[in-house]
Amino acid sequence: MTPSATPDATAIEVRELGYRYPDGTNALKGISLRVAHGERIALLGPNGAGKSTLIGHLNGITRAQQGSITIEQRIIAAETIAAVRERVGVVCQDPDNMLFMTSVADDIAFGPRNMRLTEDEVARRVALALAEVGLVDLAAKPGLHLSFGQKKRAALAAVLAMEPAVLVLDEPTSNLDPRSKRSMVELLSGLAVTLIVATHDMDLAWTLCDRAVVLDDGRIVADGPARDIMINEALMHRHGLEVPHLALHWLAGRATLHDHEIKRGHAGADGRATAEASISARPYAPHRHADGTEHAH
Ligand code: ADP
Repeated sequence: MTPSATPDATAIEVRELGYRYPDGTNALKGISLRVAHGERIALLGPNGAGKSTLIGHLNGITRAQQGSITIEQRIIAAETIAAVRERVGVVCQDPDNMLFMTSVADDIAFGPRNMRLTEDEVARRVALALAEVGLVDLAAKPGLHLSFGQKKRAALAAVLAMEPAVLVLDEPTSNLDPRSKRSMVELLSGLAVTLIVATHDMDLAWTLCDRAVVLDDGRIVADGPARDIMINEALMHRHGLEVPHLALHWLAGRATLHDHEIKRGHAGADGRATAEASISARPYAPHRHADGTEHAH
């Protein structure tokens, strides 16, 4: 989905965000980003690019030192922080940071109870979130006793139960075995929520996201349609990333279709099969802006 021009469609607006850690590390160097409701954004970049630091700002865990973050027209500040946390849910990379009660159900109820919802509403949300992540049968178990994949899903449920408008995930598939990974991708694909996913799992980003934002050294270096960015090998390599395997399969499929169409005599005068095939397989040609950002348009 492309961002709409209506101001109401804006879920998050980050303006000129700068952040320096106490030891002097300059982690964010002027990040500006607008996220529209309904978008699914892959936040990509090498280790140390600033992804986690940016995520920490989106629900106010880390306070902006320079610039501002606006969530649905509320600038994050002391007096808006509680409301902001109900709208933006962040799922940490390590689920052990999010599971500390005596049962999974209580872990999931923690957020809704903090929102001072009625116990009936808390129970409704817990049941729904457990069902969404497929953990109904394990509701009474302590989170500590779950498998890693189950812990990841329980941590996600704990955030889903708050019914956030924006779900921010830090490495949702890290350390998962292939089957748990597939089930996580399916689960996330089925969620009707604005998503920001920081990941090194390029196949996840390819499958799930319609927009990619690439961070490197505290700056946004590319922002555009996910598929255009992720098939651009030069761009991906320049920022320590790989073209997703699924993209390579997809491109190979396109090439086969192309050959097939030519053999069947469906090619256009210039030898291209169909406009769609040729445009989809076209290597991404970024347009570099004066600020150094590359846009895939
Ligand atoms: P990413 O999530 O993209 O790997 P981070 O946001 O974790 O990147 O890190 C951005 C930069 O900030 C890196 O240079 C990292 O070393 C530094 N950094 C992260 N956390 C801290 C911290 N607590 N203190 C000092 N520097 C930090």
